[in-house]
Amino acid sequence: MSEHSSIEWTDSTWNPVRGCTKISPGCAHCYAETFAERFRGTTGHPYEQGFDLRLVPEKLDEPLRWRRPRMIFVNSMSDLFQEGVPDEYVVRVARIMEAAHWHVFQILTKRADRLRDLLRTKLTFVAGQPHVWWGVSVENRKHGLPRIAALQAAPARVRFLSVEPLLEDVGRLDLRGIAWVIVGGESGPGARPLHAEWVRDVRDQCLAARIPFFFKQWGGVRKKWNGRQLDGRTWDERPSRQAVAREQMA
Ligand code: SF4
Repeated sequence: MSEHSSIEWTDSTWNPVRGCTKISPGCAHCYAETFAERFRGTTGHPYEQGFDLRLVPEKLDEPLRWRRPRMIFVNSMSDLFQEGVPDEYVVRVARIMEAAHWHVFQILTKRADRLRDLLRTKLTFVAGQPHVWWGVSVENRKHGLPRIAALQAAPARVRFLSVEPLLEDVGRLDLRGIAWVIVGGESGPGARPLHAEWVRDVRDQCLAARIPFFFKQWGGVRKKWNGRQLDGRTWDERPSRQAVAREQMA
C-alpha cells in the first residue's frame, strides 16, 4: 500500500493481495517482483516472503479509512485475478470497492478471461459501478488483443487499456466500449525499446475515436532522462468521473 503513488495515472495504491506469477512477455521485467524480492527473508517486512502470493485481509478496509476521494490502483504489486486468489476473496475486495464509492478504483489484469467470467457472475454487483474501472494489459498483439476482446465481453461499466510495456506495433485496435487508454514504455535495467511510431499510432486511434489518451513514459534504463512528452507535449487525458456518471444516466 502507498498513500501517494509515483505511478503517473493514479493517486494511491492498495494491495490486499501481494505477489504474483508471470503469465506473458509483459511480465519479464515485472517491477513488483524486483521490489518484492529485494526484501525476501527480511523479518517483519511486508515482502518478507518475496513475491510469493499472499492474501492480506488486514489491508481490506484501508480505502474505507481514506476519507478524501482519490484514484486507487488496486493491486499494483499483484494481479487480483490470478488463479491463486479464491473467488471469495475477490468478492471481498469488490465489496470494499462498492462501499468506498467516493473513490475511483482502477483494477488492471492480465487474466482477462477470469475478469470477464467473474464480472458475469459473482461480481455483477460491482460491474456496473461508474467508480470502478476495469482494465487489461496490452503489451503485444498475441497476448493483448484477446484480452481486449475478453474485456469487451465483460459487463463492465468502465473499461480501460494499459498498453504497457508496449513491445511492438500493436496495429489496429478494436476500441469499442473502451473509455481510456494508457501507453508506456518499459523502464529499468534491460528495458526493451519503445518506438515513437508505435505510440503515435495508438494515440491517433484514440484521437479518432475520441477516447482519452494518457502517455505515461518513454521508459528506458534511465526513465527520468527520457521523460514523457510526445510531439512536444504531455498527454494526461483520463475519463472524468462526472462524464462516466452522465453517460450512465443517458
Ligand atoms: S501479471 Fe503483473 S504483477 Fe503479475 S508478474 Fe505479470 S507484471 Fe508482475
